[in-house]
Amino acid sequence: MKIGEAANRLGVAVHVLRHWDDMGVVVPDRTPSGQREYSEEQLHRLRVLRACQSVGMSLPEIRQVLHRAEPERGDAIARQLHRIRAQRTRLEDAERFLVHVINCEHTLLTRCDACTRYAVSVPLREGKHVTPRATPLPPDAGETFGP
Ligand SMILES: [Zn+2]
Repeated sequence: MKIGEAANRLGVAVHVLRHWDDMGVVVPDRTPSGQREYSEEQLHRLRVLRACQSVGMSLPEIRQVLHRAEPERGDAIARQLHRIRAQRTRLEDAERFLVHVINCEHTLLTRCDACTRYAVSVPLREGKHVTPRATPLPPDAGETFGP
């Protein structure tokens, strides 16, 4: 199928497919006149690409995962698994915190062990985890929770 039809079936703009082609992620065949021609298999790869993007993978990472010949493929997949599992842990922590905070009786975050534990478990930035400690926040943190 032509690029316009592939873009329609995926629900993305034509220039997005051209970009993914240029990046070497999903490279369509070419007609003798040089037009891009997508097969059903390539459309399927494009859907996998979008699914990978939706969980935060970059195009170079997706390229490595999609192409069996990529030498770094195993490492790239292992890195993604590690990242996704860390993300899941953070989501579970956030879920526990939110479930707790609905009924938290403390007027100050700093007076509640559960709230404090959650506050110090949040990573400062990507890839840099802070080990959870029971150390309370300074008294001037001043945030209130609950009614
Ligand atoms: Zn609390």
